[in-house]
Amino acid sequence: MDAKNKRNFILLGHAQSGKTTLAESLLYFCKATNRKGRIEDGSTISDYSWDEIERKNSINLSLLFCDYQGNRIQIVDTPGYADFSGEVVSGLRAVDSAIIVLDAVSGVQVGAERAWEALEEAGLPCMVFINKTDKDGVDINAVLADIKNRFSKNCVIIESLEDPLLMEAIAESDDRLLEKYLSVLRLSVDEIKAGLAEAVHKRKLFPVVCGSALTDKGIKDLLDDIIQYLPCPLERTPVLALGADKPGEKKEIAFKDDAPFSAFVFKNISDPYVGQLTLLRVFSGALASNTGFYNVNKKLKERIGQIYILQGKEQRPVDRAACGDIVAITKLKETGITDSLSQDKDQFLFDGITFPEPAISASVKPKSRDDEEKISEALHKLTAEDPTFKVTHNGQTKELIISGLGDLHLDIMVSRLKKRFNVAVDLGTPKVSYKETVSKSARVQGKFKRQSGGRGQYGDCWITVEPLERGKGLEFVDKIVGGAIPRNFIPSVEKGVRQAASIGAIAGCPIEDIRITLVDGSYHDVDSSDMAFQIAGSMALRKAVSEAGPILLEPIMDVEVIIPEESLGGISGDINSRRGRIMGMEIKTKTQVVKAQAPLSEMFKYANDLRSITAGRGSYTMRFSHYEEVPHKIAAPIISQYQAAKKHEEV
Ligand code: GDP
Ligand code: MG
Repeated sequence: MDAKNKRNFILLGHAQSGKTTLAESLLYFCKATNRKGRIEDGSTISDYSWDEIERKNSINLSLLFCDYQGNRIQIVDTPGYADFSGEVVSGLRAVDSAIIVLDAVSGVQVGAERAWEALEEAGLPCMVFINKTDKDGVDINAVLADIKNRFSKNCVIIESLEDPLLMEAIAESDDRLLEKYLSVLRLSVDEIKAGLAEAVHKRKLFPVVCGSALTDKGIKDLLDDIIQYLPCPLERTPVLALGADKPGEKKEIAFKDDAPFSAFVFKNISDPYVGQLTLLRVFSGALASNTGFYNVNKKLKERIGQIYILQGKEQRPVDRAACGDIVAITKLKETGITDSLSQDKDQFLFDGITFPEPAISASVKPKSRDDEEKISEALHKLTAEDPTFKVTHNGQTKELIISGLGDLHLDIMVSRLKKRFNVAVDLGTPKVSYKETVSKSARVQGKFKRQSGGRGQYGDCWITVEPLERGKGLEFVDKIVGGAIPRNFIPSVEKGVRQAASIGAIAGCPIEDIRITLVDGSYHDVDSSDMAFQIAGSMALRKAVSEAGPILLEPIMDVEVIIPEESLGGISGDINSRRGRIMGMEIKTKTQVVKAQAPLSEMFKYANDLRSITAGRGSYTMRFSHYEEVPHKIAAPIISQYQAAKKHEEV
């Protein structure tokens, strides 16, 4: 099929808005399935895994497809919960556009707002589907006002192409159309359709469509609009990538189908039957089954067997994957998530994926001691599938620590451990993932010198540290001149520095948002070694951080609380007592929406308190926002507790 007859989009929105049901409805309408599945029966094509069926919620992204009037539609269905936002970040890299699904009764909820922001950032065109219009008490005009207010005034409802408001909006999106419109005060239907499509591709207009995924109302119109207005893979937003022709220069790449093969790996899935499934999006050219590709990141060629297109859990063999296709390959050995693939040599190196960082951690305690090794192995397998899930080993407490985006995320992982690997664990009380950083600069020496028996050890370096902006991570700069440290030992210093940074200097947390500059040093012809310089580097970092006004950082969450109006006073007081700040409030049909930011450490068990303040009528969602300095009064006991534990260990 020609790329111009393909449409790839992602379904985004708040949890429970009806994304999965909409996907099911689209597939059913296009006869890709002959029986419409239901969330309640656990029979949808998209939510196929046992944990999704059990919890009646999407947890993983899933791929679906259907054919409509000679067009191939590929759908990426995603979970709405912030705990699984890693799936959304991955899925965005596979598609050319999006549909945000709203519940007509609830309007624009926080999950939909996040989706809108993510699309703005990705520069992807989008449509909005107001779902559940079959429910009682739906006021489309109110939802539309909400959409215009929170997303953009350029969201336009398309009920009739003769609508003067729509015509005006389209005319305003294009100078040539505007000229025509101003002279004759109308546009032809063809001009409207073409003008709207163009405006949608450029993110100047966002069509809004209404319907019901449950009763299949509005589904045909939605399909027509998808084909008419969403971009095909050739019309998609160009992607920033490094081209092979000019190494080091990133440029916008527009895609062609008759070009050399290029693709991006956006997701790994481990399938119970076939093992590892690698999901990729083809951006240009084509790849045939039983051939091979060049992996641009790993700089090697890899052979492949069968290529599959996925319909939920089902893998259907295809001869080839062409421009625009989203496909799966099994049993790849070298290729992993975020790798760029090309025909036979460097083509494009696509940007990696920036995944949300884990904000919450908990210790994992095996129920049976014999399971310890098995658990560690199983956890590492789970991390390979989900880049937002991490496993570390706490040297202090000798515990395995798992980290994720929220308690639901950790909960899911524990049930996967049990179901998939048959190991049972208890989860310790979740803990906040703190970080360490510095508040000023320092210049220090790290010197490691040993003279024992035969050959000695000698490594000596001077480093400076300085604070970086939040979120910048760790930067290592080499400013050695005149061979004060031989070139081959500079990576040793860096390795030592990074190793020490991962362990922390004051509270056992990773050190971030810091620039470390290697400025001077000395060496010994015989005694200097890789190991000696690593130790010198790590000594230097620990000393530098202690002298540079070390501080602790803590995750701050965006919280949205929906409550009955009369609970407002209680909620505001409660948020303040949690070191939170109210960011905004608004009234939405008898309920009050409160937006706030609060430290994660204060938000554990919030569900319980919210329940008691609102007599069970409140609900909330929470998501990581950024890291901020922990106030001294709260940081001090965390640090001294760590120091005491460390001392205890050394004794
Ligand atoms: P998702 O979390 O966005 O994927 O939402 P689901 O598709 O899982 O649906 C959440 C719930 O809303 C389920 O109970 C669905 O049956 C129900 N639902 C979905 N679409 C509609 C609709 O159009 N009308 C009504 N009344 N309920 C719907
Ligand atoms: Mg779903």
